[in-house]
Amino acid sequence: MPQLGFGVWQVPDDEATKAVATALEAGYRSIDTAAIYENETGTGRALTESGIARDELFVTTKLWNTEQGYDSTLRAFDASLGRLGLDYVDLYLIHWPVPAKDAYVDTYRAFEKILADGRARAIGVSNFLPEHLERLIAETSVVPAVNQVELHPQLQQRALRETHAQYGIATEAWSPLGQGRGLLEVPAIVAIAQKHGRSPAQVVLRWHLQTGNVVIPKSVTPSRIRENIDVFDFELDAEDLAGIAALDENRRLGPNPAEFN
Ligand code: NAD
Repeated sequence: MPQLGFGVWQVPDDEATKAVATALEAGYRSIDTAAIYENETGTGRALTESGIARDELFVTTKLWNTEQGYDSTLRAFDASLGRLGLDYVDLYLIHWPVPAKDAYVDTYRAFEKILADGRARAIGVSNFLPEHLERLIAETSVVPAVNQVELHPQLQQRALRETHAQYGIATEAWSPLGQGRGLLEVPAIVAIAQKHGRSPAQVVLRWHLQTGNVVIPKSVTPSRIRENIDVFDFELDAEDLAGIAALDENRRLGPNPAEFN
């Protein structure tokens, strides 16, 4: 799985084709969508039209909450593949645990079938708390490859990352730039950016990479799409990393997974 990919949440279907095409031209090979984003069709069109060999692409999609359950998951997966125009995805994720519904174990059993059938190369989860991971691992056979969670310098998820390390689960960061809301103006980030002659977004993405997170920044602006992948030719030093470590406020921008339906 590429450590840096392209996210398309909130990109309308008709704009997704152009945004994903721009990302592929800029060098991204990993694309993160979801059934609930309602842009699998536009995303899939860009993948097909790019002419890039399927085995060079890494495509992730996610099962929406209302489809949880064994049979409904199999049906929802077929529908996602159809919209994407693919015969397999590289990674299929349970979008939220929805503990109130108590269906994520059955759902994951359907994921194991999809994996066994070769229609997903890997399966995983999103927004799972340690208690959900532990139950899933106890009651099913395949350890999730990935847990995709909200993670940025103001929500560093240290305890969850330790749980991931214990089980060999990759940590994938959603809203890695804090949705561009305030984080990129934090003085410590701006100062580090000035020191390296880079943008605040590039500093935050570099922090993710050096921390070991998979990242999927989103933008529909071509210059930002290119800027966000241009992060492999500089390095943050120990002082920079310590400065960013101190920004953790345990502040969520999104919902609490324990309660979200
Ligand atoms: P993000 O942190 O990637 O921020 C995106 C926003 O930051 C853009 O809309 C823009 O306003 C700004 N931005 C982007 N690049 C910039 C740059 N170079 N300079 C200045 N500003 C810039 O937020 P996101 O879209 O919430 O998260 C990324 C991806 O994560 C999503 O597209 C989606 O694929 C995934 N995601 C998953 C879940 C989940 O529940 N699994 C939830 C949210 C997002």
